[in-house]
Amino acid sequence: MSASATAQHFIGGEFVGDAERERRNPAQPTQIAVRSPIGDAADLDAAVTAAQAAQPAWRRTAAPQRGAILLRAAEVLRSRAETVAEDLVREEGKTRAEATGEVARAVGVLQFAGSLGWASNGSTYPSSLPGTTVTTRREPLGVVGLITPWNFPIAIPAWKSAPALISGNAVVLKPAELTPMSATHLAAALHEAGLPAGVFNIVHGTGAEVGEPLTRDPRIAAVSFTGSTAVGRRIERTLRERGARSQLEMGGKNAVLVVDDADPRLAAQVVAAGGFSLTGQACTATSRVYVTPGIRESFLAELSAIASQVVPGDGLDAATTMGAVVSDEQLAKNLAAVDAALSDGARLIHGSAEADGLRFSPVVAVDVDPGSPLATDEIFGPVIAVMDVPDYASGLRAVNDSPYGLTAGICTTSLALATDFADQAAAGIVKVNRPTSGLDLHVPFGGIKDSSSNTFREQGHTATQFYTWEKTTYIG
Ligand code: NAP
Repeated sequence: MSASATAQHFIGGEFVGDAERERRNPAQPTQIAVRSPIGDAADLDAAVTAAQAAQPAWRRTAAPQRGAILLRAAEVLRSRAETVAEDLVREEGKTRAEATGEVARAVGVLQFAGSLGWASNGSTYPSSLPGTTVTTRREPLGVVGLITPWNFPIAIPAWKSAPALISGNAVVLKPAELTPMSATHLAAALHEAGLPAGVFNIVHGTGAEVGEPLTRDPRIAAVSFTGSTAVGRRIERTLRERGARSQLEMGGKNAVLVVDDADPRLAAQVVAAGGFSLTGQACTATSRVYVTPGIRESFLAELSAIASQVVPGDGLDAATTMGAVVSDEQLAKNLAAVDAALSDGARLIHGSAEADGLRFSPVVAVDVDPGSPLATDEIFGPVIAVMDVPDYASGLRAVNDSPYGLTAGICTTSLALATDFADQAAAGIVKVNRPTSGLDLHVPFGGIKDSSSNTFREQGHTATQFYTWEKTTYIG
């Protein structure tokens, strides 16, 4: 049993705030995972004021120097990766391997953004005006607000903060209330790497008390949000009303189409990895599967065999292969969706509509009614709804028949079908013979439809575009 961690606000370069709230370990409900402060309007005002004061000097700091600080922060985080990963497991519930991978991703994101300090920041154009040079460069927006969810509690704060900071912005981050410790570790790494006071700030607290006022603060030039579609659309409206920029990464209902010519074992591995890793609590998780008749039985036998080997439990136990569900509310949503599907005529070939505390075995439901919430709504759990389709064309239509459009996959050995699917799938990210989850950190990421604002992409070298505007200069 470990001592619980303590998260604090990080405002103006100082860790402040009394631990008023307790978060229990979802896999060990008797353990307090983390204590954290509950922020209010005064904390938020202090953070935005500090950010506003610090941003002009940060903008004038040479980009390679800004980059050097991010590269040092990556090293600090790497040096304590094990501690950070263990705190992450206790507050969120994923497995040690998943948490270690997430911390490594945060390190990589800081390294990638740090290296952009040496990148070109504009272009030179010929001018029609004699003796004149025309250049463009990207300027920071000012102070930006970041609002993040619990399911990647250090990777998402890192992949939003790093491009914002390298571009010369100051940041005010509101992490999810369920997972305050991981973001606190990020703040510590940036602070110890020499980031000037006020450039990066964290205010913990609820969406209502801290998140919403952050979106309404006229000093906040833009908000990058990851979370549910309902909250994202609300934030988008608020920002639009005051003429400010928003970036939204929201829900998903990601589908995989398994066609007759696929390898059934590989298809089952792809679907299981997408559906059960991270306890199915990833925006890119596989939750719908469409299967054609010729491969149905062999694919389901392989999928059921993989599901039966999954060991749900405490992510810090070596035997655990799938972590706990994050909260009672999230579990209740899973169980209700499975119950509703059973009432609508589905059968479970693995799992049940019951859990042991927040330890929940993977569920594979077949014969799911396409109108059932299990087939249409984002459930955010290790639950896969399998539906039959007569052929590839109907399967493609079914994949695209969703308000969401984050990731979509196909399992096939046919290059022609793979190419057609990549062309026609209505999703921001398409995977062929690979799980819908699991993405490179240096490649643009985002969805379409209700999954994303579909304006600026996150991650990769274009991630800085959201946090900057383009200035054109004529010099004669
Ligand atoms: P959520 O309930 O929408 O919360 C996300 C963040 O918004 C939290 O920090 C939350 O604060 C805050 N918030 C809530 N109400 C707010 C308001 N009125 N104004 C401003 N901020 C507000 O989502 P979640 O349950 O944490 O995360 C799961 C969702 O995230 C899923 O839908 C998943 O698909 C999505 N997600 C998407 C991506 C992607 O890249 N597309 C990646 C990961 C997750 P509190 O919760 O602390 O109150």
